[in-house]
Order: sequence, then structure tokens, then C-alpha cells
Amino acid sequence: MGLTRKLLVLDLDETLFHAARRPLERAPDLILFDYFVYWRPYARHFIASVASWYELAVWSSAGKLYVERALEALVPPGILLSFVWSRERCTQGYDPAMGEHYWIKDLKKLRRRGYRLEHVLVVDDSPEKLERNYGNWVPVRPYLGAADDTELLELIPYLEYLSGVENVRTVEKRHWRGGAYRLR
Ligand SMILES: [Mg+2]
Repeated sequence: MGLTRKLLVLDLDETLFHAARRPLERAPDLILFDYFVYWRPYARHFIASVASWYELAVWSSAGKLYVERALEALVPPGILLSFVWSRERCTQGYDPAMGEHYWIKDLKKLRRRGYRLEHVLVVDDSPEKLERNYGNWVPVRPYLGAADDTELLELIPYLEYLSGVENVRTVEKRHWRGGAYRLR
């Protein structure tokens, strides 16, 4: 592993928690403005685990106050986030087929801050958010509130593996669940 730790950027909605206007069948973990929020199982354990191998940051396409309040409640004490970015750092894209705007996380904004993209990973449930930087994307299934979800728990050993890779952009990351990376 290199001397400097790689940067791991985490998405929030549908990656680390599920937030909805209507509650699920169980009590929410947090009520955030008009939203009922459910932490993804193992979210805190995940954050604490990956913090030992990565410099951590959060980038969400939600509003600034929403992001800050969610993190105050979610992030375990003692975990340092290098930055917390919200919607105003996102770039707007437009899908003519759907007639809809969407948000893009353009990692050139990290490069401008001095991060080398060979050493940057983004965990996100939405492919379109990373459409300019697929090579940095670690995909997760969208979290919609299932109490038996194990996505984050399973992702921990994969991120430990990637923390030791020379250039994360050259690694195919779409099929991490199968564990084939362990054979390399
Ligand atoms: Mg998301």
C-alpha cells in the first residue's frame, strides 16, 4: 500500500440509509424534516471499519442542512470526514428521453483539490451520479429499508482489498459481490 491513504467518498440516500415521506412498518431511526429515516444495517460498523484504511468524505446530492443533520446522527464519534459536500457541488445533467434533470458528481472537482483520481473511490447506488467517472465508482444496491440487508457488511472486505490497489480505476468493480477479487 502507498504512503498516503486513498479517499473514500460515501453517498447517503439509498446507500447509507433510506429516507421516505411515509414510514415503513417499523419505527424510524431518525426523523429528519419531513422524512422518516432508516439506517442501512451495519452502516455505523461500515463507517468505523473503512475509516481504518481510508480518508473519508461524504458527497450527497441532497440539500446541505439535510446532509449535515443526517451525519450528526449517523457518524460514530471520533470519525473524521475530510469534507461534506451536498447538492451545490453537484453538476446538473439532463436526460432528453425522460425529460428530467439529474445530479452528477463530477470528480474533477476533487482533482482540483489535489486528489489523484487513481486513489479515489465513490460508493453510490446511482450510476448516473458517476457517469463522468465510472472508473471510480463502487456500486451498491439501492437501500429501500429491508431490515436484513447485508450490502455494507459484505462491502467491507472488498474495500479493504481496494485500499491496497495501485490504481483503483483499472479494477473492474461492478461484480465485487462474487468475491472473485480474492483470487487475484
Ligand atoms: Mg444515493
